[in-house]
Order: sequence, then structure tokens, then C-alpha cells
Amino acid sequence: MNNETMIIIGAGAAGLCTAITRARAGQKVILLEQNNKIGKKILVSGNGKCNIDNRYINNHRFHSQNPPFIEEVLKGYDFEVVEKFFTSIGLELVEGKEGKMFPMSLQASSVVELLEYEAKKVGVEIVCDCAVTSIDKKGTTITLETSQGKKSCEQLVLASGSPAAPHLGGSNSGYAFATKMGHALVPRHPSLVQLCSDEAWVKGCAGVKVAGLAKLYANGVYITEKKGDLLFTNYGISGLAILDLSREASTRLATFDYCELSLDLMPELSKEKLTNLLQARVGKVSEKPLSLWLQGVINKKLIAIILEQSKCKVRTEDALNRKEINKLVHAIKNLKLSISDTKGFKGAEVATGGIDTSEVNPQTMESKLVPNLFFAGEILDVDGDRGGFNFHWAWVSGLRVGGINEN
Ligand SMILES: Cc1cc2nc3c(=O)[nH]c(=O)nc-3n(C[C@H](O)[C@H](O)[C@H](O)COP(=O)(O)OP(=O)(O)OC[C@H]3O[C@@H](n4cnc5c(N)ncnc54)[C@H](O)[C@@H]3O)c2cc1C
Repeated sequence: MNNETMIIIGAGAAGLCTAITRARAGQKVILLEQNNKIGKKILVSGNGKCNIDNRYINNHRFHSQNPPFIEEVLKGYDFEVVEKFFTSIGLELVEGKEGKMFPMSLQASSVVELLEYEAKKVGVEIVCDCAVTSIDKKGTTITLETSQGKKSCEQLVLASGSPAAPHLGGSNSGYAFATKMGHALVPRHPSLVQLCSDEAWVKGCAGVKVAGLAKLYANGVYITEKKGDLLFTNYGISGLAILDLSREASTRLATFDYCELSLDLMPELSKEKLTNLLQARVGKVSEKPLSLWLQGVINKKLIAIILEQSKCKVRTEDALNRKEINKLVHAIKNLKLSISDTKGFKGAEVATGGIDTSEVNPQTMESKLVPNLFFAGEILDVDGDRGGFNFHWAWVSGLRVGGINEN
């Protein structure tokens, strides 16, 4: 049994998981949380249902400047290990689409309540409304200044997350503590975030949602593409396809690349099929305005910009010929939207970057620079895809610090 006191900064997913596993092993654990309650991000996750993990864990779903670190940490720590942990606290999981796992209750609050119950049962001291403002290590003692006075310990875990979602506790403070102790940081950028555009037309399309395909270009070079919902908003564009490519957009915008999306508003119809569909709809004697004619196939709010970008010269249905139809098809399948920014950390679910993992032991998550300093969760330079992968990282890194070794 470890007789040293462990303080964990941050009662999010990673901090709670670490606390439970260490306290189960008999260690004295104090969990400090600046918010008035624990697990605020867990509570809102998955639209209140908490997409707690993903059945199909694969190293490629995680991102970092140091992929071999991810590989080492995840080795032997697949979904089943996390499931075992949740079974041990009395939480059953169910599978949704694409391997996404949820609590069987479909209530994020049940995850937090069961974690809290277990933590208290095994003796974790949880202190809410307790913001840590500085840390100092002298010899083997680590002293923390907090909003509730000084606290000291022999082992410290930084599980304070990233600046994403500041209204839920997102903060930079953990980075400051780590850099003070000599750790390096990889640049942080918002990810799983909405994108902004200065183009006036998007405002007019606000509220329109289509099942589309978004391709991202930076300085004219193709970067990536994602399929899924595209939601036009008064600031730009959101939707699952956009969140999924936002990591790439965010990192490129940070280096002032010119970012543009090419949107396919009808990815299920090939260019040929769409051309044939439109061609077949042309009435030879109808003088129906083109804008009304297009309402037969596409949301009316999108028509003005399609006509503008297509440079279609005709304005009535009967005047359409193959060349003009091709222009329309091209615009529908390649609508251009320039991107000026992201919605920032306020809108982001996670942050890219963080503590440089080359200075962290992947087996124990202990600092290679400062003995008895550990890291868990999103504070590290690791972020995951949407679909439960970010929580997987938080749980697994917590289990690693906790000393649950499945290898
Ligand atoms: C809206 C939203 C929805 C999400 N949905 C999902 C999802 O469905 N599935 C998924 O896998 N991921 C999801 N995520 C991402 C996921 O929530 C995070 O990756 C995960 O919570 C990170 O866990 P963590 O413990 O590392 O950090 P956090 O959960 O951020 O916990 C860190 C804690 O540290 C506290 N803290 C920070 N600084 C201090 C300090 N100085 N003193 C004391 N306390 C401090 C914070 O208040 C916070 O409670 C979502 C995120 C958001 C914002």
C-alpha cells in the first residue's frame, strides 16, 4: 500500500477514474475541483446521454505529435478494460451507432452519480469550489495554494483538462503548473468546433441542415473530407461533418492558411445522376422561374447562392440547356464557403495539443522530469475523434495512473 497522499487537480473523467483506482488500492486521495460540482463535462456530453466510450478502439482515432506514445498507452487498454471499470461501479453500457457506447440509462447524470458514490465509498475526499492557484515542490513535498487554503501531498496528478468549454471548467491552469515544473507544451487549438465564415450569404441560410459532404482545402490544397450533417448558421457552419474536420481547419487557420470548404449538398447522387434528374425535370414550354423550379429539389434558402456560384445565365426553366444544367450541378456539388475562424475554445469540445508526451512515461503517466507528478486526460497532447474516443483517453490514462495494469 502507498502511504503517500495523492492530490488530484480536476474532478473530470480522468481525475475521477484515477481517484477511484488509487483509493481502491488503499492510498489517501484528495480530489480538488474548482467547479461547484464534479464532472460537468460528463454531464453535458453526448447531448446529456454521455457517449462514454467506443467499442472499436484504434490508435488512428487519436491525434498527437507523438503517436507512439498513444500506441504505448492504449496497448492492452481497449474498450473492454473501460467496460470492466464501469461494471465495477455498477454502470451497464449499451451500444449505439458506429460502436458508440452509452450508459444503459442514457443519462449522463447516472455516470457522474455512480462515479461519485464509488469515489466516496472507497474514501476519496472530494473538495468542490476549490481552485488550485499555484503549486510548489520542495524535496518530496508538493504544496498547493488553493481558494480554500494551502494543501500538501507527496504525489500530484494534473487532471485539469484543456481550455475547451470554459463555462464547464475548461482552463489553462494545468499547463501553467506543468510548465513551471519544467514541462514543454505542444500548441493548443480548438477541435470538434464550429467554423466561422465572413461570407454574407451563410446568414441567409441559417438553420438549413443537409446531409452532405464537406471537403477542406488549405491554400487551395485538398486536406480532408467528412460526410454527415452540414448546418448553416448565422456565424458560418456547424454539423457533424464540420466538427469532424474542424481539427484540420483549426490547426491550419492558426498558421494563417486560407481555408475553404467545398460542400457537396447531394453526395448520395452522383454528378451524372443529378444531371439526369435535373434534365428530366425541364419542361420545354414552362416559363417557371429557375429559383422556383430548383425548390423542387433543394432547400429554398440555398437557391440564391447556388444560382450565384453556378453563374447560370438563364432565369427560367424552359431556357435551360445541358451546359447550364452542368453549371447548376457543379454548384450543388461544389458549393464554396471560405472559412475565417473557428468558434474558439468556447465552442470546442476538446483541444488539440497540451503537455508534450515525450516527457511522460506511457506506462504510469508519471513525469519523466519530476518524480511523483502524474498527468491524466485531455491535459496531455492527445485528442480523439468524435464518438467516445476522448472519454476513452480520459478513462484509460486515469486507469494507468491508478495502477490498473492490464499488460
Ligand atoms: C459539450 C461537450 C460534449 C462532449 N461530449 C463528449 C462525448 O460524448 N464523448 C466523448 O468522448 N467526449 C466528449 N467530450 C470531450 C470530453 O468531455 C473531454 O475530453 C473529457 O471530459 C476530458 O476529461 P478530463 O478529465 O481530462 O478533463 P475535464 O473533464 O475537463 O476535467 C477537468 C476538471 O479540472 C477542473 N480544473 C481545471 N483547473 C483547475 C484548477 N486550477 N483547480 C481545480 N480544478 C480545476 C475543471 O473544472 C474540470 O472539472 C465533450 C466535451 C464537451 C465540452
